[in-house]
Amino acid sequence: MITVYKANVNQVDAESYKKFTETLNLYSLICPKCKHHDFQKHGYYTRKVKYRKHSVTLRILRVKCMSCKSTHAVLLYFIVPYSQYALEVHLKALQSDFLNKFIDWIEWNEGINEYSYYYIRSQFQKYWKERLM
Ligand SMILES: [Zn+2]
Repeated sequence: MITVYKANVNQVDAESYKKFTETLNLYSLICPKCKHHDFQKHGYYTRKVKYRKHSVTLRILRVKCMSCKSTHAVLLYFIVPYSQYALEVHLKALQSDFLNKFIDWIEWNEGINEYSYYYIRSQFQKYWKERLM
């Protein structure tokens, strides 16, 4: 997968992601496997992203590297790989944990239950913390 950080999309919605993929300069992407820039659009798949009190179904773009033939999903910075929750939900859960304000998190994100809160925290401890450090 390829995550794009500099995009003019700052909200989780299907129309913004669609516009992003339609105007994306494929040459601006870098293959994580071989570091080349030569991509072609390869297809789409749908994925739900939960954000606060709603979930959004995105049509995720897949691209194929013409150098090494690998395929990659193109994600925006607010889509956390292998998670159904948007980045802001992860950050809020981790911040709430750090500040010991679980109740605030539940009120902020009432559409998401306490099991999701604990799931996000455990995923961070198991996978993301070490990668980020
Ligand atoms: Zn490649």
